[in-house]
Amino acid sequence: MTLASRMSVLGTETAFEVFAKAKALEAKGKDIIHLHIGAPDFSTPENIVEAGRKALTDGWHKYTPAKGLPELREAVAENILSFRGAEIDPNNVLIVPGGKPTMFYAIMMFGEAGKEIIYPNPGFPIYESMIHWSGAKAVPYGLEEEKGFAFSAEAVLALITPATSLLIVNTPANPTGGIVPRSEMDKLVAGLEKHPHVTVLCDEIYSRQLYDGEEHVSILQYPSMIDRSILLDGWSKTYAMTGWRLGYGVWPSHLIADAERIQINSSSCANAVTQVAAIEALRGPQTAVDEMLASFDERRKIIHEELNAIPGFRCVMPKGAFYAFPNTSGTGIASKTLEDELLNEAGVACLSGKSFGKFGEGYMRFSYANSADNIREGLRRVREHLANRQ
Ligand code: PLP
Repeated sequence: MTLASRMSVLGTETAFEVFAKAKALEAKGKDIIHLHIGAPDFSTPENIVEAGRKALTDGWHKYTPAKGLPELREAVAENILSFRGAEIDPNNVLIVPGGKPTMFYAIMMFGEAGKEIIYPNPGFPIYESMIHWSGAKAVPYGLEEEKGFAFSAEAVLALITPATSLLIVNTPANPTGGIVPRSEMDKLVAGLEKHPHVTVLCDEIYSRQLYDGEEHVSILQYPSMIDRSILLDGWSKTYAMTGWRLGYGVWPSHLIADAERIQINSSSCANAVTQVAAIEALRGPQTAVDEMLASFDERRKIIHEELNAIPGFRCVMPKGAFYAFPNTSGTGIASKTLEDELLNEAGVACLSGKSFGKFGEGYMRFSYANSADNIREGLRRVREHLANRQ
């Protein structure tokens, strides 16, 4: 049996591997604190669950149109107008099974041998994995810890060549918690005018997890970018719906039919019941979203303080998402070694910075999508482990 050669370049998302290892240890009776998670620990708000239940009894058992239910696409357009202040046509919305498919479709659409795709590193590992799979050259840009991992438009623009087809931006960002401030987005958009051959994929899946009054700056707020940007967002993080698998892309008019064709080839459409529940998520009360955000904010402050109290760790205050990304180089331990030791010896699941790309070495990612008590206990174990390490 010979697999297609492209399989050898396909990467993965380490979070799922660590999760499986943690579950196996738990099955053997070991107590594990989960600080690796990329999912809100809250249940999906009850009004959304009820809408899903009702959809199931109401007979939403069949395919929907490939682009998604028209009412849901309208609800997405309304939401983009009220939350981002950008007017879009519901016909440009493609409802997909999760946040990831928009990323996959965009990278497959723009990546091939001879093309270059620019992406954040450290960054969500699937960007790099998909770029390699597409055959394009992966061109990483770093994020500076000293500047709170904020993105530098100048550094990113300097990487553009005639072969660049796609530029990936993620704000707020996984794993760093950094954001693209308006001043940098303005510079990026101005600089891109000189490079009309570049399309932007803006991953805004953490758009609702922002703290300290920071505003969310969306690529769709720039009229000159509407025809050359793909917006990625979804329900997973905002509405605690990671297991429901639903997301959306807003595509330029000249790309939406191609994106829909990839969807028809791969998944046909997103789950019908989930789509009906997602209308309730967008149009129903938003109190649960605000409550979850307030909890994340409290835990953010706790994790920041606790991480900075660990000898050899130094952590900038995350501005968005629900991750802290401390610099752990002061421990002198490689991040993958630390990931393994903390899981197997200390009973703390967290992720090595290296699993987010080569520029992530010397860092670790801790998620604060867990209770304050678990965060405190997890980091107590980390401190104890490092203190007792030979
Ligand atoms: N984009 C980023 C930056 C993420 O961190 C994640 C999930 O962790 C996704 C996209 C994918 O989201 P989903 O679980 O909805 O596919």
